[in-house]
Amino acid sequence: MIIAMKSNATEEQIQEVCESIRRYGYKPHLIRGEERVVIGAVGHGDNKDHLQNLRSVPGVEDVVPILQPYKIVSRELQPQRTVVRVDDLEIGGKEFVVMAGPCSVETREQLMETADAVKQAGARVLRGGAYKPRTSPYDFQGLEVEGLKLLAEARDRTGLKIVTEVVTTEDTEVVAEYADILQVGARNMQNFALLKRLGRVNRPVLLKRGMSSTIKELLLSAEYIATHGNPQVILCERGIRTFETATRNTLDLAAVPLLNELTHLPVVVDPSHATGRRSLVRPAAKAAVAVGADGLIIEVHPRPQEAWSDGPQSVTPPMFAELMKELREYVRFESRYLNGSQ
Ligand code: PEP
Ligand code: MN
Repeated sequence: MIIAMKSNATEEQIQEVCESIRRYGYKPHLIRGEERVVIGAVGHGDNKDHLQNLRSVPGVEDVVPILQPYKIVSRELQPQRTVVRVDDLEIGGKEFVVMAGPCSVETREQLMETADAVKQAGARVLRGGAYKPRTSPYDFQGLEVEGLKLLAEARDRTGLKIVTEVVTTEDTEVVAEYADILQVGARNMQNFALLKRLGRVNRPVLLKRGMSSTIKELLLSAEYIATHGNPQVILCERGIRTFETATRNTLDLAAVPLLNELTHLPVVVDPSHATGRRSLVRPAAKAAVAVGADGLIIEVHPRPQEAWSDGPQSVTPPMFAELMKELREYVRFESRYLNGSQ
């Protein structure tokens, strides 16, 4: 339920409504808009009638049900967009944020070379997996803590923020110690224990869409993180599995504007995993800008033919620099800006 307070409601009236919501067995979720306060009553209590009756309480303007199954992340409850902040960096604001780096952290040389190159080209966040969820148990599983330390070194060296994947609940603490943004991989989008754990972390989460997940399921996974205490969620469209095998996945471009209608959370696109082909990263990236994405996450490797994972979809640093140059015009056309051109 959404309890919309009157624009002149007092703080005392707001707190009283919150208290009633708790008494009825729901969790109040307060949103302070520019004009008025809106309170979401979320949970699975069976006192809906009591909530309806709040309509006659002083300070309350109206009580309406939230129609979507996801509540806190829905635009019904919060029309104004969420801006996820990492120090000075804003994701979901005016800046179009590009995250780039290797699929996996392999060696110091590989990571530093990539970090310097993507920084130079205008990226704001360095990506790189230290814990890798691989389809085959015989594939490279990641450098783990050693990889996290290299990422932190690259951050000190370049000023880039770090996004890296957390694969298990047990690793959450150590990954959060080093990373600025925690990535949940497609294979883990419905790992509910992990999502709940991430609700208790004081770091933004980049939630990737599962390869066979619907938009509703993606939003319900985001709701898990938010309702467990962490509203700083960035959604990522990274392609879904369809009958098509010519591309690694099928980039669901329409998901981006649809998500922008359904949720206030920022949305980024991963053209690397979405296509699986180096040559398609650039056109897919441009399309992402046009459909209203807030940013991109792109795999870059100095020597893709030697990459320990995802070489075929990794672009080289010169290709990445070219892409960024071209992207600048597209981003401007959407009334946004890329790092370095505001
Ligand atoms: C990755 O970002 O390297 C990755 C494993 O992505 P996804 O979870 O989208 O497959
Ligand atoms: Mn990858």
